[in-house]
Amino acid sequence: MVDIIIIGAGPAGLSAAIYARRASKSVLLLEANTFGGQIVNTPDIENYPVAEHISGFEFATKLYTQATNLGAELKFERALEIKEEGGIKKVITAKNEYEAKAIIVATGAENRKLGVAREDEMVGKGVSYCATCDGAFYRGKPVAVVGGGNTAIEDAAYLADIASDVYLIHRRDAFRADSASVEKLKTKENVHFILNSTVAELLAEKKLTGLILSDKQGNRTQLETQALFIAVGRIPENKCFANVLALDAEGYALAGESCITETAGIFVAGDNRTKEVRQLVTATADGAVAATEAVKYINATA
Ligand code: NAP
Repeated sequence: MVDIIIIGAGPAGLSAAIYARRASKSVLLLEANTFGGQIVNTPDIENYPVAEHISGFEFATKLYTQATNLGAELKFERALEIKEEGGIKKVITAKNEYEAKAIIVATGAENRKLGVAREDEMVGKGVSYCATCDGAFYRGKPVAVVGGGNTAIEDAAYLADIASDVYLIHRRDAFRADSASVEKLKTKENVHFILNSTVAELLAEKKLTGLILSDKQGNRTQLETQALFIAVGRIPENKCFANVLALDAEGYALAGESCITETAGIFVAGDNRTKEVRQLVTATADGAVAATEAVKYINATA
């Protein structure tokens, strides 16, 4: 049995591991994909205190190195379920069953689908959810980005240096993204804002060839592009753990700033919990808080 199992090795989970190890607790991190979570797809982080410019990949790698150098163990296994048996907490994966005194769920969120016909079929054939992964395929060509949050704005800024033109399609004329980032994007000559518009259809044979856009009056226009980068938000990854986490209507785990859930010994950290501000800095802060609370819980129940 380990002291703390942390599910998810993104910024929240890795930060939790650092704090737990520095409190001399044994830590097992379980990660379904790659360490770093969604931040690895961010080309340039400009709003993390002290690190004025750092790529998401470098940030994640440094965090991973720090956590593992402190003795946190990382296994690449997807946690499928949390169980409680005789006061012992268990995390079930496809291969194993692990026991812990406390669990921190730091699973983050997955990409939300746009919901347009043929979206799934066109992934890898012009439709992408990751500008840094796939942007280079469209060097010198026109590309489209859909969304109005920080991800869409960052993706458009990144693609502006690669593509001939970037069409940013947003369903409103106000943005969720920081106004500073939006204003900076507006200064790029090859970025064109298409506001109050939605993607009504994907035009494609084997690969994407264009989009049909619809404005608020229902007027339809055609945009020729071989690439659509979808950045319309995220969905929290809590479903598997609904037996131990109370979820709100959108699927976020109910917890306050203490990261304490309704189940004793189970904590949540990062983008999968209810919170006002979902930023890298609040994810890492959650990791520190959740680990500190988990350590307190273990010491109090020992
Ligand atoms: P987000 O802030 O939730 O924004 C999603 C955007 O997609 C919104 O503009 C929304 O429009 C639009 N949208 C949602 N569903 C749509 C649909 N079906 N069709 C068309 N448009 C749709 O998501 P995000 O940009 O992925 O950001 C997620 C969180 O991560 C945010 O808290 C963000 O601040 C944070 N983030 C931070 C950084 C950073 O710190 N550097 C970088 C990236 C992301 P409406 O506005 O009309 O609802």
